[in-house]
Amino acid sequence: MKIGLVTYTPQEVKGYDLNVYYSKWADGQVFPAAKGMQNDVTVFCDAKAIREDPSIVAVSKSGPALRKNRRSNLAFDFVCPTHPQYRAKVLDYIESLCKETIIGVTLNLYHFPDQEYCVCPRCTELLKQSGLNWVQWRAQTVTKFVQEAKARVKGTFAVEMYPDPVLAKERFGLDLNAIAEFVDYFHVPLSSRDYLTNYWVDTLARDFAASLKKPVVVELSAEMPTDEKLNALLKTVAYVSRHKLDAVLLLVHDSENAKQVCKFAVQNKDFRSWLEKYDFKEMSQIVDSWAKIY
Ligand SMILES: [Zn+2]
Repeated sequence: MKIGLVTYTPQEVKGYDLNVYYSKWADGQVFPAAKGMQNDVTVFCDAKAIREDPSIVAVSKSGPALRKNRRSNLAFDFVCPTHPQYRAKVLDYIESLCKETIIGVTLNLYHFPDQEYCVCPRCTELLKQSGLNWVQWRAQTVTKFVQEAKARVKGTFAVEMYPDPVLAKERFGLDLNAIAEFVDYFHVPLSSRDYLTNYWVDTLARDFAASLKKPVVVELSAEMPTDEKLNALLKTVAYVSRHKLDAVLLLVHDSENAKQVCKFAVQNKDFRSWLEKYDFKEMSQIVDSWAKIY
């Protein structure tokens, strides 16, 4: 199993095999390509674009797909996934990233906000024209976007997803079997402020490893301020390393944060003997390789 990171700074860090950089954010900020890295693009969540033109927001019977509309439990503001100019703008950006020497592109938030979206006049008309039902049409819309993005990407192509192994298609239009045809791997974010309770990480990592038809990498949050939380995170990485995963990615603020995790693991004698005692081979190899650097 590889160990990697997901970061907001365009800088690879020693000791990590897979370096993912957020090049387009949910708040609408867009950055130049990070060379030598996997560039992660937030697709339909764009608070800035919606502020500039509120008419592009996805809508449901209970209002717009905005964080401030508390009838929906949304973490971001969502653009309607069939808005032609917005789609073209994101696809152009993906194409521009691929003119640089990057490893590849990952898409995130490229789906519908939730089950009841989108019923704007354009989506209503497109649904009618398609002859498909609501679930089929929304899934086809998302899969087609993934296909169009893939056509512009040179190198590794991956997608994140809302980590729901049961209702992803019904809620978000994520037909993960259909999408599997276009991607090199799936990137499953299992974010949390801490992993002091971790059964859900273990369960979802197993579910996705067993059900997805392409290799799986799991992302855990590592922006941890305390030793107790770092310890729980590293033990959680060790547990999931026993499943069939290509990599675990650690979400960090920056390079210093990434190095801090390595140093903490290397210096933590209790943790290293715990890995030894319970035979966590994959994780022991990772910490041994960090010990040569940090
Ligand atoms: Zn719409």
